[in-house]
Amino acid sequence: KWGQLRQRLLKTVGQNNYTNWIEPIEFRAANDGIATFDVPTTFLGNYVSQNYADLILHELKTEDPSLQRLRFAVPAHVGAGAEAAPAAEQRPEAPRTSKQAANNVLTTAPLDKRFTFDTFVVGKPNELAHAAARRVAEGGPVTFNPLFLYGGVGLGKTHLMHAIAHELRERRPEMNVLYLSAEQFMYRFVQALRDRKMMDFKEIFRSVDVLMVDDVQFIAGKDSTQEEFFHTFNALVDQNKQIIISADRAPGEIKDLEDRVKSRLQCGLVVDLHPTDYELRLGILQSKVEQQRVNYPDLEVETGVLEFLAHRISTNVRVLEGALTRLFAFASLVGREINMELTQDCLSDVLRASERKITVEEIQRKVSDHYNIRLSDMIGPKRLRSYARPRQVAMYLCKKMTSRSLPEIGRRFGGRDHTTVMHGVKRIEELKAQDGQIAEDLELLRRALEE
Ligand code: ADP
Ligand code: MG
Repeated sequence: KWGQLRQRLLKTVGQNNYTNWIEPIEFRAANDGIATFDVPTTFLGNYVSQNYADLILHELKTEDPSLQRLRFAVPAHVGAGAEAAPAAEQRPEAPRTSKQAANNVLTTAPLDKRFTFDTFVVGKPNELAHAAARRVAEGGPVTFNPLFLYGGVGLGKTHLMHAIAHELRERRPEMNVLYLSAEQFMYRFVQALRDRKMMDFKEIFRSVDVLMVDDVQFIAGKDSTQEEFFHTFNALVDQNKQIIISADRAPGEIKDLEDRVKSRLQCGLVVDLHPTDYELRLGILQSKVEQQRVNYPDLEVETGVLEFLAHRISTNVRVLEGALTRLFAFASLVGREINMELTQDCLSDVLRASERKITVEEIQRKVSDHYNIRLSDMIGPKRLRSYARPRQVAMYLCKKMTSRSLPEIGRRFGGRDHTTVMHGVKRIEELKAQDGQIAEDLELLRRALEE
């Protein structure tokens, strides 16, 4: 049964997504309305559950309508062996073994094939980080050491680090490039201690040409790991070997990190990835749509949908990507084009979760600033056109950008009636279509409010 379902899922999600996400999962059992699947890693389970659960459940229900829920579990035997690395964040590609690593200890963590410079969209918020990453990826003489990349979750740190690793493998195949998360660093360190192989550990880590440690904040508060990291770091810097580090915040802001480690981390080039802005999000969405085209060549995307998503979804690119993946899968499942209605239906939870609460007060303040009038005049009773129009603009924005009802909005505008608000909203809607200036004002204000 699962075999046939798989075939149907393959058609729906496309070969790439299928190979990445569906193929690795295995149907285990169905009990009490819950279908359980074995997954190789927690990460994969979470991903499938977030992005494909609806689809899979939908398909399963055609066979067994009593099913209500899916569960994804890592079977007990997976990951229990001494050699198993901690659940990686990436899809495993066969780990590379470097030349010194005859004993199979120096393996780089799996690199995601998709995380290359080609697929990295550059915008204002990440251009410095991108430029710095490009520079170290040339594999030329070390100019800044370490390169420290930091920024919030889902802003592209891991993507850039993998891109550097891919690029170096191409350009400088003789170089020994080691990429791993700080967690894996700790894991290997602890394992070496346990197996009394500290000499090997030290030798191996000191023999790399480029060391990349992702999410270094992880070792904060872990004293012996920090100590070992510090020595490894110093040994490599002394040999003029390139080090690239990422973290979710600036070195100085990582709590429970020893001062000497902090200051070492700060002595190279520290660059941050800023939260994405509207333009970058739109650029990323456009590029991801192109990538999805491979799987869904015929799917239409109505204009305006990407703009809407770029406006509405938070700065985390991972969330943005997940939303798009889901949208494509859903649209192809129901055989419809991707339009606003489908988007609202399919992504209602994501949209709700990422809604930044914009307040009526914020809107009133921004609009009165924009039109250079006093807030009190905009809210007050004066009916002069120079106040009335901004007031209507503000009401319109309140209706569109907050979840307030018309009567509530009326109340916040000096106790006006809900019909007044409704009239104002209508008027602006009409003007928006006729009057370029109003349309532009609205766009500017919307952006300023969404910053
Ligand atoms: P971080 O490590 O900073 O938490 P990741 O590098 O894992 O974030 O990025 C999260 C997801 O967003 C990845 O799928 C990545 O490919 C994507 N992403 C982030 N920034 C960009 C970008 N500028 N262009 C294209 N994709 C991006
Ligand atoms: Mg990361």
